[in-house]
Amino acid sequence: MSDSEITQLVRPLVREMAPYRSARDEFEDFEAQKIFLDANENPYDTDVNRYPDPLQRRLKKVLAKLKGVADNQILLGNGSDEVLDLIFRTFCEPGEDEVILLPPTYGMYGVLAQLNNVRTHSVPLNEDFELDLEAISAQINEKTKVIFVCSPNNPSGNAIPLWQIEALLKRFKGLVVVDEAYVDFSEQNSASSLLKIYPKLMICQTLSKAYGLAGIRLGIGFADPEIIYFFNKIKPPYNVNILTQKRALASLDASDEVELQVKELIAERKNMEKALSNLSFVKKIFPSNANFLLIRVDDADKRYKQLIENDIVVRNRSSLIGCENSLRVTIGTPQENIKFMNVCKSIDQ
Ligand SMILES: *Cc1c(COP(=O)(O)O)cnc(C)c1O
Repeated sequence: MSDSEITQLVRPLVREMAPYRSARDEFEDFEAQKIFLDANENPYDTDVNRYPDPLQRRLKKVLAKLKGVADNQILLGNGSDEVLDLIFRTFCEPGEDEVILLPPTYGMYGVLAQLNNVRTHSVPLNEDFELDLEAISAQINEKTKVIFVCSPNNPSGNAIPLWQIEALLKRFKGLVVVDEAYVDFSEQNSASSLLKIYPKLMICQTLSKAYGLAGIRLGIGFADPEIIYFFNKIKPPYNVNILTQKRALASLDASDEVELQVKELIAERKNMEKALSNLSFVKKIFPSNANFLLIRVDDADKRYKQLIENDIVVRNRSSLIGCENSLRVTIGTPQENIKFMNVCKSIDQ
């Protein structure tokens, strides 16, 4: 490995360590008819008696085509949560390096930072929940390794304009992670088009939201092949199980249905936006490019309780910066949304 800018960002320990070599690493052609006596498996076929492909080659081939990236630009994980954890473990020296978070944002970045003993600096998003580039620049120092951008942002729902992400990439010499868990619902394109120009950009996506596969746990990372090399070096060898790989392949094959559902959910979101705006306890509905709405109400605790009493569970996000008295509501099926709106009308007095 050359001592490129990416290599220099990686923790010395990760640069130097020898990866665990699993019994199957040597076999490029994973599905060839061979007699496998190398991994102490039970030889009798149960569909899952063999270890999974550690590099998930078939699945990556399909995803590469679908997303317009190369196979070697993809990392797959046990949910985005594992992908995000690998970012910390690859780039952030515990007790030394730092990251920047942009609240209000997804809670896992902070949890993983704490777990990995990595100090965080928080730079709040501005009143439109977009990047405050000047304030971010002011927080960057020698130890800053990663900045986490969530777009569309959870819990606010808005997409961060691509020009702001590009401006950040120009200012910062560390890794910029753009978490696009909700990109399939967004009018704005993925930031993946910037991967060619900025090798220190990383994109996270997931099959948990639009694809309806939260239960199989499949997170996706796109980055420069050199970054992926280091992730592959330290990830648990069999981190994506066979059932998940099979189910993901089947669903990606039937993505027309997902596209229809996404269209319907966006239409439902727009309807719900209109209906909610007629209620007197709803003070503000934040613009959304996701499958949820953040709404500011008169009294979030009171409204949250009333909804629970009517068997409707939403997320109270009031404790987050910029989200005072705000509830986050996921868009359900048309029937669920009607029930939700009926309850909202009934408590609107
Ligand atoms: C839901 C969500 C994820 C998904 O995580 P998985 O572990 O892939 O289920 C990631 N990032 C954000 C911002 C999310 O809201």
